[in-house]
Amino acid sequence: MPHAITINRAGGSEELNYESIDVKDPGPGEIAIHQEAIGLNYIDVYFRTGLYPIDKFPFIIGMEGAGVVTDTGDGVSDFSPGDRIAYAGPPLGAYATDRVMPAKAVVRLPDDIPFDTAAAMMLQGLTVQYLIRQTYEVKAGDTVLFHAAAGGVGLIACQWLKHLGATIIGTVGTEEKAELAKANGCDHTILYKTENVAERVRELTDGKGVPVVYDSIGKAMVEPSLDCLSPRGLLVSFGNASGPVTDFNFGMLAAKGSLYATRPTLMTYIADPDNMQLMANELFEVVRSGAVKIAINQRFKLEDAAKAHDALESRSTTGSTIFTTG
Ligand code: NDP
Repeated sequence: MPHAITINRAGGSEELNYESIDVKDPGPGEIAIHQEAIGLNYIDVYFRTGLYPIDKFPFIIGMEGAGVVTDTGDGVSDFSPGDRIAYAGPPLGAYATDRVMPAKAVVRLPDDIPFDTAAAMMLQGLTVQYLIRQTYEVKAGDTVLFHAAAGGVGLIACQWLKHLGATIIGTVGTEEKAELAKANGCDHTILYKTENVAERVRELTDGKGVPVVYDSIGKAMVEPSLDCLSPRGLLVSFGNASGPVTDFNFGMLAAKGSLYATRPTLMTYIADPDNMQLMANELFEVVRSGAVKIAINQRFKLEDAAKAHDALESRSTTGSTIFTTG
């Protein structure tokens, strides 16, 4: 019997209910999937709490999974039952053992990439791909600042940036996370709870600052992040872990050196299935080559989704977290 985590209203982790569900047959252009593993991402918290609104309840959150095609709807020619697939992105509904989704929203999963690795890396890895290869194309010799360097996105970013030949300054919440980030390629770590981030970045860059800051912390970090940039540098604000940035003052961009700022989302970059496939190919390549190793540091059963959300929000996780369905 298929099961899922459903929510009936926005709220705390106690709103996550494990229950049996009916799964409809795939319609035109759709495939049915049995999921072997599901990814946990910070965006799941934003949907659960209502920061990102949901208009219809009961609702199944989740944006990432990997599994096997069990059925195909009319007009689907790219996939057949038995194919291994993985995905990151809408439509939501990943917190389920079984689901139906558009065939164009998934990619074929190479045989040498396990389901749990795929579920741990698709959303965070495609995010790193667009951040460092498209939003700002990092080159060998660049020094970049990456916040939350020991998180899911952060550990993939450290390794991939190192592979590109960049020097990485990473911020982290604890000494243990600093060690982990360093073990994954981060050259310098800053403990942002106790150290002045902008001052440390200036020290580490001989006063120059960095050309790009990747900031998923949001509200608490936006001004310090701008203070780390060199003239005409780019703030990439891509998350809200400390709350959303709601009062951005454009004048700061002028005052701090003709800076640029962007607020990108993965959804824009993967909206075109061809671009999504190219991004996935690059991700598969760095994982296959060993340049990027996916750290699945927490595994939960799907029914324990509330415990997983509590762990993520309390900043006690590192690397990637998955749900298993078996
Ligand atoms: P992480 O594993 O990075 O977890 C979030 C981390 O943020 C925490 O472990 C913590 O690390 C840090 N943090 C800093 N301040 C806070 C706070 N007030 N509350 C909670 N955590 C805090 O999560 P993910 O890898 O899943 O995602 C990382 C970020 O990237 C998220 O903000 C997410 O929304 C964003 N994202 C954006 C995408 C986009 O396309 N725009 C796509 C994917 C992710 P520490 O203890 O070291 O401070």
